[in-house]
Amino acid sequence: MQPFPLSPVATPLIFERSKPGRGGTRVPRPIAAKRAADVLPKAALRRDPPRLPEVPEFEVMRHFVELSLKNHHVDRALYPLGSCTMKYNPKVNEDMARLPGLAGLHPFTPDAACQGALELMHTLGEWLKDIAGMDAITLQPAAGAQGEMTGIFLIAAYHRSRKDTARKTVIIPDSAHGTNPATAALAGFTVKAIKSDARGQMDLATLKAALGPDTAALMLTLPNTVGRFETEVTEIARLVHEAGALLYVDGANMNALMGVVRPGDCGADAMHFNLHKTFSTPHGGGGPGSGPVAVKQHLEPFLPVPVLAKEGGAYVRQWDRPQSIGKLHGYGGNFGMHVRAYTYIAMLGREGIRETAQAAVLNANYLAARIEKTYPMPYGRGLHECVATGTPFKDQYGVKTLDIAKRLLDYGFHAPTVYFPLIVHEALMIEPTETATRDELDRFADTLLTIAREAKEQPELVTGAPRLTPVSRFDEAEAARNPNVRYAFGQ
Ligand SMILES: *Cc1c(COP(=O)(O)O)cnc(C)c1O
Repeated sequence: MQPFPLSPVATPLIFERSKPGRGGTRVPRPIAAKRAADVLPKAALRRDPPRLPEVPEFEVMRHFVELSLKNHHVDRALYPLGSCTMKYNPKVNEDMARLPGLAGLHPFTPDAACQGALELMHTLGEWLKDIAGMDAITLQPAAGAQGEMTGIFLIAAYHRSRKDTARKTVIIPDSAHGTNPATAALAGFTVKAIKSDARGQMDLATLKAALGPDTAALMLTLPNTVGRFETEVTEIARLVHEAGALLYVDGANMNALMGVVRPGDCGADAMHFNLHKTFSTPHGGGGPGSGPVAVKQHLEPFLPVPVLAKEGGAYVRQWDRPQSIGKLHGYGGNFGMHVRAYTYIAMLGREGIRETAQAAVLNANYLAARIEKTYPMPYGRGLHECVATGTPFKDQYGVKTLDIAKRLLDYGFHAPTVYFPLIVHEALMIEPTETATRDELDRFADTLLTIAREAKEQPELVTGAPRLTPVSRFDEAEAARNPNVRYAFGQ
């Protein structure tokens, strides 16, 4: 199936479709119903009717279907956004998350009355611990970044509990996701960035030089953001521990490792998952998310409250945990995400989890093999993503990576991640995920090769892209500084 281009036709606002007096759906008034004016205090009554569009139901439906076709999403076509793991989300997850008993559960329901929901969360936690190779877990954090924050707070609490107060530095390789240094800084640590070596991995000598009595932790992404496994990770863990520090693993990219490698077995003390990436729940545009944090025994006393536990056959939320870092998120976290991730893991099973990771790696490597002669990869092939550079196109034809990304939209594909990781110039970071078929990978590779030819023969086609989308290019600085998102009634 060739993805169709995004609809370039301008869509009116739903208010512009409205005709005064037409109304929408009419609901009969129950005979015994009282008027609002009879029951509400006068001050609570609205003076003017709400300004709702007067549009029949089918037009509302068509309006939103049309809008959905103006945007790119995983249900439309490949969305190979590197580091974001934009895989197809099986719809059975959605069915389960919408079960009335789960979706309608009040967050203040006492433990005894929501044993099923607590069992689901507890079981999900057990599965994630197993995948992580860890001893304890919290499902509370609502994003990868909040998971990192939780993990670093746990590590800080651990050092504090040992009266080891001189540890003020967190070491982070220069290939890391921006959330890592942001987390460490926000948690009050000094960030020490260290350079990756020619393989795109951590250099042991550089690490040794950076470690000291002031080091609280090393934050390591596994596999790292150039898609490479840190082959010396057990030695890295040994060095970190020898220096009295702890190893935090950013597990947002576990799609490449789950069922194959367990960070806990590699020596990690804490890690977070991104359920909304690896375990297939819809994400993008800021949420919702879920970033469970799994830890080894020595960090368990500090986990955020409440801690979910099984006591004498019943599931309980424990609040009495004197060493806890406290609460990070309302209730138990984003429960709907837990239901989706639970469903996904239950559907796949142990073997399926491993095969998913293997297929993700195979897909990325197949794609790399098809494009690497045209789009060079400075650090070679990786695991679950290909990190290429657009430097040759910029140097020879004045076509930037951004232009290539924009041109992909004309062919019905979402652009990959661009200009990240920072250690690759003009980076194009492509993560096809396991849910791309070989046909789709071939079409995507063919399109990239076509764009490479265009860059050489008709560069203006690429630098002027996209042409087939509702809007072409924004003045991004203006859009960020002076966003105009207001609809003015009657003007
Ligand atoms: C996505 C990602 C994060 C942040 O996760 P959010 O849920 O967006 O906060 C952190 N690290 C890596 C490597 C990521 O890919």
